[in-house]
Amino acid sequence: MTMRVLKDKCKGCTKCVQNCPFGAITMKNKIADIGGACTGCGVCVKICPFGAIEKVEEEKKLVDLSAYKGVWVFAEQRQGKIMPVVIELLGEGKKLAKEVGTELCAVLCGNNVGKLADKLFAYGADKVYVADHPELENYRTDAYGKVIFEAISKYKPEIVLLGATHIGRDLGPCLAVKCSTGLTADCTKLEIDPEDKKIKQTRPAFGGNLMATIVCPNNRPQMSTVRPGVMDKAVYEKGRKGQLVKLNVEFEKGDIRTKVVDVVKKVENAVSLTDADIIVSGGMGLGKSEGFKLLKQLADKLGGTIAASRACVDAGWIDHSYQIGQTGTTVKPKIYFACGISGAIQHLAGMQNSDYIVAINKNENAPIFKVADYGIVGDLYQAIPAILEELDK
Ligand code: FAD
Ligand code: SF4
Ligand code: SF4
Repeated sequence: MTMRVLKDKCKGCTKCVQNCPFGAITMKNKIADIGGACTGCGVCVKICPFGAIEKVEEEKKLVDLSAYKGVWVFAEQRQGKIMPVVIELLGEGKKLAKEVGTELCAVLCGNNVGKLADKLFAYGADKVYVADHPELENYRTDAYGKVIFEAISKYKPEIVLLGATHIGRDLGPCLAVKCSTGLTADCTKLEIDPEDKKIKQTRPAFGGNLMATIVCPNNRPQMSTVRPGVMDKAVYEKGRKGQLVKLNVEFEKGDIRTKVVDVVKKVENAVSLTDADIIVSGGMGLGKSEGFKLLKQLADKLGGTIAASRACVDAGWIDHSYQIGQTGTTVKPKIYFACGISGAIQHLAGMQNSDYIVAINKNENAPIFKVADYGIVGDLYQAIPAILEELDK
């Protein structure tokens, strides 16, 4: 919506200048002139005694939705290693592509990364678009954004999925703005509407208190970032082949505004929660940070790792990298032990898709028991030593 001054009607009374709540109107040669600060609120239209200002409906550019085909997965790689979330996105992308009746493609950027295409084919990609260039060695928004935007403009995918990793969360919005389309961030569920074949994207909203399902009806591509650890991994089919499409990559001076000076890896105990098959997680029921030592004994015995609720992280008992939940990591292990965890919705958002959930809690009414497959009502300081004893036998 824009506003227009009808010059032949404007008498220069300045009433609109005085009443515009956004200071968007000035006088030029005794005629009102509406500037860039205008929000289209319409006050001036009503206030002008001479009917000299009118609203102009902008012509909406209709996107030809039928021109967009294919489901694309951004094949995020770091130092030549495909990120685990990509395999999950290929698994989910395959289902979506089948329901839409289209092909599954991966888009891969980096330096000397072409060899990774075979892995993407084996995990279900029908086509892999590869952008190989020294400037793509390390992720930079400008470089990746330009290359992938050009590919989207040329090949027109209808759905683009990215992992909600640090890189995906940066790249997704950049691409969405360039493509003038919408992006649903941090999705936990994707499904195709059987009627119109559009994607329904579900994500937690309002602090995780409700799940919002979002559609992108009029623009393309439909874009989502998806939390790692939520979707099922694609099945590996050895020797599976597909079509490799090389993208033309050219950069001009000024295209990339940042330079990677050094890559510094965070030095800390590496916790790979998303890859763990068994997780022994502790909450405030532990009573003290030392309680994690007992959980570690159980995790070590089962070949798993420990994790925590946010309350323990907030209490300073354990580092944030161990946190499970809406503002932590989302996991899908084979077994998730929830020890002294009440089961707040924000915690459940990060673990309720685990294959088996074992809850240990003193309070038989704790909400965690609603999602648990096995529940032990009791003190974790009695239950866990008893489990350890049984395992020793
Ligand atoms: P509590 O709720 O205090 O529960 C402790 C449990 O231990 C109780 O059920 C009690 O019965 C039991 N218990 C006590 N003693 C024992 C014992 N000896 N043996 C066995 N059981 C015992 N939380 C997360 O975990 N992850 C998130 O990502 C997250 N994100 C959030 C985002 C927002 C915007 C908000 C508002 C909150 C978020 N939270 C998150 C916090 C969440 O709402 C809860 O406050 C938190 O999960 C509670 O942690 P808890 O279960 O360890 O503690
Ligand atoms: Fe012109 Fe109307 Fe503004 Fe007066 S109120 S300056 S007539 S546009
Ligand atoms: Fe000011 Fe509102 Fe008129 Fe725009 S539409 S010029 S913001 S009064």
